[in-house]
Amino acid sequence: MTLHRIAVDAPLWDALDYVHAETLPRGCLVRVPLGRQNVLGVVLGPAEGSTTPEASLRAVSEVVSALPALDADWLDLLQFAAAYYQRPLGELMAAALPTWLRHHGAAAAAKRVAAWHQRREPQAFRLTPAGGAALAQQLSPRHAALWRLAAALGLKTLQAAGAATPAALIHHDAAPRLQLDAARKLHPKAAALLRDWAAQGWVEAVRDVAQDVAQDLVRNAMPIAMRDVAHNEALHAPQAKPNTPPPTQQATLPPALQAAQQAAVDAIRTARGYAPFLLFGVTGSGKTEVYLQLAAHVLAQDPQAQVLVLTPEINLTPQLVQRFAERFPGERLAVLHSGLAEAERFDHWYAAHSGAARIVLGTRLAALASLPQLALIVVDEEHDASYKQQEGARYSARDLAVWRARQRGIAAVLGSATPSLESWRAAQRGRYRLLELPERASGSLPAVRLLHAGQDPLLRQGGLIGQALFEAITRRLARGEQSLLFLNRRGYAPVIRCPDCGWLSDCPHCDAHLVYHRTDRSLRCHHCGHRAAVPRACPDCGSLDLQPLGRGTQRVEEALATLFPQARIARIDADTARRKGAAQAGFAQMHAGEVDILVGTQMITKGHDFQRVTLVAALNPDAGLFTHDLRGPERLFAQLMQAAGRAGRADSRPADIACADAAASSSAPEMLVQTAYPEHGLYRALVAHDYPGFAARELKERQHGGMPPFSHQALLRAEHKKPEVLDAFLAQAIQLAAAIASAGQGSAGLPQASLAPSGGEAGNAGFGGRTPTGLMVYPPVPASLARVADVHRTHVLVEGSSRAALQDFLVRWRGALQQAKARVRWAIDVDPTEF
Ligand code: ADP
Ligand code: ZN
Ligand code: ZN
Repeated sequence: MTLHRIAVDAPLWDALDYVHAETLPRGCLVRVPLGRQNVLGVVLGPAEGSTTPEASLRAVSEVVSALPALDADWLDLLQFAAAYYQRPLGELMAAALPTWLRHHGAAAAAKRVAAWHQRREPQAFRLTPAGGAALAQQLSPRHAALWRLAAALGLKTLQAAGAATPAALIHHDAAPRLQLDAARKLHPKAAALLRDWAAQGWVEAVRDVAQDVAQDLVRNAMPIAMRDVAHNEALHAPQAKPNTPPPTQQATLPPALQAAQQAAVDAIRTARGYAPFLLFGVTGSGKTEVYLQLAAHVLAQDPQAQVLVLTPEINLTPQLVQRFAERFPGERLAVLHSGLAEAERFDHWYAAHSGAARIVLGTRLAALASLPQLALIVVDEEHDASYKQQEGARYSARDLAVWRARQRGIAAVLGSATPSLESWRAAQRGRYRLLELPERASGSLPAVRLLHAGQDPLLRQGGLIGQALFEAITRRLARGEQSLLFLNRRGYAPVIRCPDCGWLSDCPHCDAHLVYHRTDRSLRCHHCGHRAAVPRACPDCGSLDLQPLGRGTQRVEEALATLFPQARIARIDADTARRKGAAQAGFAQMHAGEVDILVGTQMITKGHDFQRVTLVAALNPDAGLFTHDLRGPERLFAQLMQAAGRAGRADSRPADIACADAAASSSAPEMLVQTAYPEHGLYRALVAHDYPGFAARELKERQHGGMPPFSHQALLRAEHKKPEVLDAFLAQAIQLAAAIASAGQGSAGLPQASLAPSGGEAGNAGFGGRTPTGLMVYPPVPASLARVADVHRTHVLVEGSSRAALQDFLVRWRGALQQAKARVRWAIDVDPTEF
């Protein structure tokens, strides 16, 4: 009996000890009893110094032997992530391992894996000319069953064919394909025979498109309109055997790189060991092309190498998957994202884990995938907020990706037109190498025009579409070009309106409408926090008919329909996207040119390469300027730049005389921003397409305020139905923090935490207490969504200049909080991005 320490699939802080007859390797997947359940576990190693007497230890229920053990790198990754993000290892495992595996035992896993491999075996065969000759000579007429098989492959006896030479028996092109299933009915050992004949070159495997699961899975991640392409790819997918030469590949030929692209590819290709790069290039500058050519290089260099490509949203960036599928028709792609069915995701995960999939595309959860031969990591749109998980183990996929690159000594490429300020500063300090793609590969960037909302007659009358925007859309409609209008998320919250007199629920303290919160029927100001009850009657005219106005996008759609009755208008937002496939259909219509004006939220500003859009308009971006979220401006800028990138994608330079007319008649691409603050530095930088200028200004402010990336933060998030209980817990948490701080006083190397004075009116009042390695613990404040479904949410911010000191503090604080056994739900969020 050997004792094993096993991490189990349960939110436990410690691994548990189990016995098993043989010694199991580290990383081995097992199922173990836990309470009355049987859960998935991963062997961490022998249980040295186990405190539990062996007799009372429970035994491993079964070993999931169909799956290769997880490797040391993966285990280290998970242990690092659990420690860094202050979460139980089991919780990280639950996030990283496919749910299907957590719900199925060893036998089911073995069956699924066998089926997976079988689907990869050739399912149909065809006789080769050499095979025809060889079989005709060697098969004895007495082998009836073998003859049946050969005949089904098209081989005829000499007599029947009446031909002079055996080679003439078969016209290879006309040779029928024999399905494995059919072959099995003709000969009990058909599968082995055919494999043997294939090895001799007598038959060749014919790929059966319908069976090709890898390509199926890629197709599933794509909108319907694109599936035909993938279907064609499947026809050209190679055979399963690694040593058979791939059939003619119909890969799209890579374009010749532009100088800046080439320089980037060369720099990354020639880098040795851990090499993080920040690929800074405007939308359309050819970043994806750089990823593609790097991947091609890495895959060609090492027949086993795997490439991981992270993308914020698979469904909003289907073109990324499509481009990889097109460029690498011979490679098996795995696609990992939360939209897959459980079993499907297991198959993809297994494809990556077994090394069969050499290109793995996925959203943040793919950062935790098992990739034994990982050789290159790409993080596309690295600034995107969705890389941070916002519940459970709140990891940052981007940061873990960089950690993995360091662990494996490989290159990581973070790409963005508007890098996160963290990455930008890392590049400035030389921690990341900056690579720039300053120009668009095709088309041109739109000119940005700011429309002063305060001076626009239509906007001042409460309209949503200003005069200049009206005119700009009119011009697009006249020329058959497309316009794209988007609203900031805040802007689509409903407001209360009186249909009789037009009264709107305005905030008494701000120039903003109060937003109607359905959950508690309140009106709230998203700027200053003012809160009011929904009045029973209109304060102006007494009407009892007060109604919430529809969401902003819907209102815009209605306004457009009135202004442009002849236009074809489509809307894509959270409401319409709820219907399955509706967003996809909307995008497909847009691509097909069946839509003149597309209205939506940020969703429509991502990734799509709309060829006919020459006008993009941001209707109400200002809210992003004044959030208390320190990343508000950064996000707004990124969003506007991204939106700008949707216009002018088409190459407007005339390619030949015939196109010159068409090119001349298309409008110069343009982005309009309706704002009350046209002088704001953020918008000025936008007009100049000046990310570095914007970043420099923001970084200066962050430095001044001691905010990230000049400091490191963590939040203690707590929630409870009763505010008193919550307050008591947070008071205790603050006391514990103070105790840890004072215990650290004097003893070198331990962090010293200062407590910011609570109730101070200036939030920065406590900064004077900061020591070089010190930490600041701020008073509790309500979360921006302070109450959700009657649960109150409050958090405590901890900030420090040293990551190590913060980590050290968090470990102690978490331990102390756990011992406090409070009734509230709480968790620590390291490097928080939502407040
Ligand atoms: P990004 O990822 O930066 O938005 P893409 O790689 O998608 O940029 O490139 C934008 C467009 O330019 C795509 O249509 C792409 O095919 C094309 N493109 C990129 N690089 C080149 C090149 N070197 N030559 C010609 N076209 C290119
Ligand atoms: Zn207000
Ligand atoms: Zn009224």
